[in-house]
Amino acid sequence: MSDSDTRTSRSANTRSAQEILEGVFGFDAFRGDQAEIVEHVSAGGDAVVLMPTGGGKSLCYQVPALVRDGTGVVISPLIALMEDQVAALRANGVQAAFLNSTLSWEDVQQVEAALLAGELDLLYLAPERLVQERTLAMLERTRISLFAIDEAHCVSQWGHDFRTDYLGLAVLADRFPGIPRIALTATATQATHAELTERLRLGEARHFVASFDRPNIQYRIEPKSRARNQLLRFLRTEHAGDAGIVYCLSRRSVEQTAEFLRGEGFAALPYHAGLSEVERAENQRRFLREEGIVMVATIAFGMGTDKPDVRFVAHLDLPKSVEGYYQETGRAGRDGLPSTAWMAYGLGDVVQLGRMIDQSEGSGAHRRRQREHLEAMLALCETVDCRRVQILRYFGQDAEACGNCDTCLQPPRTWDATVPVQKLMSAVIRLDRQRGERYGAGQIIDVLRGRVSDRSTASRHEELSVWGIGADLTPAVWRSIVRQLLARGLLQAVGDYGVLVVPEAAGPVLRGEETVLLREDVQRTRTAQAGTSSARRGSTAATELTGADAQLFESLRTWRTAQASEQGVPPYVVFSDATLTGIVRARPTDRASLSEVSGVGAAKLERYGAAVLALVAEAAGN
Ligand code: ADP
Ligand code: ZN
Repeated sequence: MSDSDTRTSRSANTRSAQEILEGVFGFDAFRGDQAEIVEHVSAGGDAVVLMPTGGGKSLCYQVPALVRDGTGVVISPLIALMEDQVAALRANGVQAAFLNSTLSWEDVQQVEAALLAGELDLLYLAPERLVQERTLAMLERTRISLFAIDEAHCVSQWGHDFRTDYLGLAVLADRFPGIPRIALTATATQATHAELTERLRLGEARHFVASFDRPNIQYRIEPKSRARNQLLRFLRTEHAGDAGIVYCLSRRSVEQTAEFLRGEGFAALPYHAGLSEVERAENQRRFLREEGIVMVATIAFGMGTDKPDVRFVAHLDLPKSVEGYYQETGRAGRDGLPSTAWMAYGLGDVVQLGRMIDQSEGSGAHRRRQREHLEAMLALCETVDCRRVQILRYFGQDAEACGNCDTCLQPPRTWDATVPVQKLMSAVIRLDRQRGERYGAGQIIDVLRGRVSDRSTASRHEELSVWGIGADLTPAVWRSIVRQLLARGLLQAVGDYGVLVVPEAAGPVLRGEETVLLREDVQRTRTAQAGTSSARRGSTAATELTGADAQLFESLRTWRTAQASEQGVPPYVVFSDATLTGIVRARPTDRASLSEVSGVGAAKLERYGAAVLALVAEAAGN
């Protein structure tokens, strides 16, 4: 091929990619790296794509699959989600299908016949099905445009989603030489990146690493006092009627929190590994299909949950790592609209997670790694700098203070806690050295505050020289001090009861060679509360609109829900919130102006144009 040939074919590709983007998906422009990735893969290149959740990974393989001849084969780990992805493509007029164990024999025959006849643009498969010899042989008889390996971090043992079946995907390199492969993931760490490249044999691939920032998500971490009430206030003031996820550590707290929220009038459902598969599937289905469901879940819930309009992710317990936290919070706001990642975190979390690590099975190296993960997570919780900067730095990316996290919006105040810290450490040391007694935080604080109880009398704590030397501070302040010292490794909680000990690292503080600046939590909580109702109201798609606009949005939303349930698909398959908002803003009066709205492609214009225009006209008549 001469130079000019290459140029023509490439520009032909690019043009048709743009046509597909507009005509099929109804979008004006590619975002970020999408254009380059699409061009590269359309031209036959392999690619490794690291892009955060909501970054727009799907188009990176869907558009090239439509540009190139043949069927694009997409490997996706979760059978439950293929159906929705295929429904969304079909709603845009794309010939898409999936093969998985939920299909009847007849349906499988039909899909396979369509595949062999070259009628499919995209075929979704689970990895365990792809690697079967029968499937591979069938694909060899088919014209394949590309292979897309979604959630590619599942091939990595470092990550938490490792799937043995993914290892078998390396076979594609041998069996289908010359067919482009694109691997995609939202997991950002170096180790995972390197491992998936090697294991999927993508050594020749071009790598596209996007910024992992999710600017539409507001990160907030507040000290825990009465967690459920804090959650309730957060939901009521900022996310009434919104869909979201509340993560809890244990099944029991999932059940209790879901029940509590239902009692307060929220449509809350539980999700954890202790529920039957049927119940889990039903709750997940409702979360995807209905509007405004709050899913209360353990981390068993969420991977690959492609719901674009999750408006908040709340953590009632501390995640075990920054990776986990970022992946879980990343499920909010895939549609790019403002969303909140909120967490309540307290002393109990620090002690509990530390204990879980101590008691966990596995090698010393494994425990050490878990401890490092926890330390990074604690550092994020306790930081007085921008949360986003800290998170991105963890993933090896630089950023500027974001202006959209709690520490940016309300810079935490710090105070010199050196003297109280010395008192606390002396109390711990005295009790241990003089009496051989070790206590958890609660009792140490009682001693410092001189709280008389049966126990203090029985143990003759009133005779200690440290008795009551900390009566000037409230228990809440003392708990905040203990928590921050644990997070910094200036105090340790050990054993089954989390008894406190002073580590050697605390020497300089005890000797007065170092001052200790701590966050002023209690003060912070008060100001944060005052700020919420005014500053944070109106963050979501619907509440950004006011008056007549809000009314039109609601009537469009009601229409959408009815459409979706009639077709048995999630509402966003009909139109996303972003598209509904776009319609409200544009108030189109004819098909041409409706087709300009982002997310309205040819198929949807055809199908819904009349209904939407009627609703807009009706609203204008009022
Ligand atoms: P990911 O798989 O990376 O989490 P998706 O592919 O689901 O992200 O895309 C997230 C959202 O952004 C979807 O609602 C999608 O329709 C939308 N989107 C993706 N690319 C574009 C684009 N170029 N223009 C407008 N919207 C887009
Ligand atoms: Zn910030």
